[in-house]
Amino acid sequence: MIPADFLIDDADVVATMAGPAPRSGTAQGDIGALTRASVAALDGRIVFVGRAEACRHQVSLRPGATIVDARGRTVVPGFVDSHTHLVYAGDRRDELQLRLAGATYAEIAAAGGGIVKTVAATRAAGEAELVDAARPRLAAMLAHGTTTAEVKSGYGLEVASELKMLRAIRRLADEQPISLTATFMGAHECPVEYRDRHGAYVDLVVDAMVPAVAGEGLAEWCDVFCEQGVFTPDEAMRILRAGLARGLKPRIHADELALSGGSAVASEVGARSADHLIFVDEPHADGLAGAGVVATLLPAAAFFLKLGRYAPARMLIARGVPVALATDVNPGGGFTPSMPFVMALACFAMNMTLEEALVGTTINAAAALDRQTTAGSIEVGKPLDAVIVNGPLSELLRVGAPVIGAVIKHGHVVA
Ligand SMILES: [Zn+2]
Repeated sequence: MIPADFLIDDADVVATMAGPAPRSGTAQGDIGALTRASVAALDGRIVFVGRAEACRHQVSLRPGATIVDARGRTVVPGFVDSHTHLVYAGDRRDELQLRLAGATYAEIAAAGGGIVKTVAATRAAGEAELVDAARPRLAAMLAHGTTTAEVKSGYGLEVASELKMLRAIRRLADEQPISLTATFMGAHECPVEYRDRHGAYVDLVVDAMVPAVAGEGLAEWCDVFCEQGVFTPDEAMRILRAGLARGLKPRIHADELALSGGSAVASEVGARSADHLIFVDEPHADGLAGAGVVATLLPAAAFFLKLGRYAPARMLIARGVPVALATDVNPGGGFTPSMPFVMALACFAMNMTLEEALVGTTINAAAALDRQTTAGSIEVGKPLDAVIVNGPLSELLRVGAPVIGAVIKHGHVVA
């Protein structure tokens, strides 16, 4: 008998996501579904996945074991949110109403809003203040089923403040249930004091920030906002290569506002993920597919910014690019902590199927973070991170309804 101390018993469906990762093309919709299935774990690790009937014969529960009755329910892996900016100080929720009243980003920025406002507040905040502000954001993500997440710096834009943000991420990783991976993003924007000497800021990122971040072991990834008026493809390449030389793996904000070269940089530098991609075209999609880059799409960002268009998910899938989905939690337009809401947008605004969207929020998102061996699927040997859906899988699309029955992290019910 297989000993276990945690059992999800007799689910109508378990979407295991077992199989190769990341998934592309027709495999993008392969969720590895088992019916009338159970999942057992010991010390947080999965020891059995299979038919409920077989589980009764093969698994022996230890005294005091936790049993979750999953009859009539669906079990999916804990969601992996592979793109967030959830550590910041200050409050820009007022800009939402200005935008709804017709103000443009430029008008909001001219009135003292936008990223400049977040940078000022984040520079002024202490590390503990950043941790306190981010804690409820993570709790909200957890309540919506996120059990692994990426978090970026990029509101400091000076050495000390970038390090402070990354130390705050490290503290948050230690104190709450969601597994976090940190991304250094000193090249999120050129700070106001460098606006007339942009090249000197790129030098600062390359020569001072990257070595300091890598020296302290504060980040796994390096990211750049490659876009017209922010950082050019050449600058992005230089920054990502500097990160790579210090052990920071590349990812990139690419082709969000125009086809501005970010996806080409991703392919050339071998980024794990290229994110946004609203304007990516077929030749560049082929480049991403050839280089093994995951396309991380952020439809909630396009929705809240009222961009009027979404990334071409169907084209990317057809060209063989693995698609992941993430929230883009941030102070200016990333207003949802909910991966199920992102799935709903993926389905209704980007024409993905529900199964493709589920792959995008689990195993492909895990692959976008190099976590495919520890997250994103329900397989023997992996940590048990799971979401219990009250009903069939399609319940996840009922935005706002209380469809999540439980969230499980490392074999413990955490929400
Ligand atoms: Zn972003």
